[in-house]
Amino acid sequence: MFQAKHLDYSYDAFEPYISSRTIDIHYNKHYKNYLNNLNNLLSKYNFNYSKEELVKNIDIFPIKERGSILFNLGGVLNHELYFDTMGKNNEITGLFKEDIIKQFGSFDNFKEEFIASTKLLVGSGYTFLVLNKENKLEIINTPNQDTPISYGLRPIMNIDLWEHAYYLDYQNKKDEYVNNFFSIVDFNKVNKNYEKALQENI
Ligand code: MN
Repeated sequence: MFQAKHLDYSYDAFEPYISSRTIDIHYNKHYKNYLNNLNNLLSKYNFNYSKEELVKNIDIFPIKERGSILFNLGGVLNHELYFDTMGKNNEITGLFKEDIIKQFGSFDNFKEEFIASTKLLVGSGYTFLVLNKENKLEIINTPNQDTPISYGLRPIMNIDLWEHAYYLDYQNKKDEYVNNFFSIVDFNKVNKNYEKALQENI
């Protein structure tokens, strides 16, 4: 049984960019639904893997169950990263700051490239900043609930681009949601994710 991760902020922490109602529904209904589905699917199996390890060892499950396990597992991991990455420290910091500037030229270039990527996503999914096998930062889109871990990549930050993430607050104005999202990303947490990912083997 995997437990729900708690939010370290209140539902209204990101008003007016993301409403209290959206955070409440997104966290309590969407995220927890993925978690419940995952726990139900896994209830008849015994294993000692973390969620990340399960992605890499998905072939321990019968072929016909892998699709739904991976979908819900991705749904849990992707939402945990999304909610975890939001917070109050919006200033880019640490080793992450140094390497973003090294690899993208400037923070603004990175932001521009990230936003451009969100516009290329067709249907539901995410834009991710990941660490690739060469330990370089890369911006990618993943459809539905695919996790970059399936591709041998280490997720650093993401933005949920499913309509449920923004529709109550922005309706069809996805671009506005994406631009405002940068005001509520906690780059202290992103820096921690980055430093942790650099230590991890894939
Ligand atoms: Mn979502």
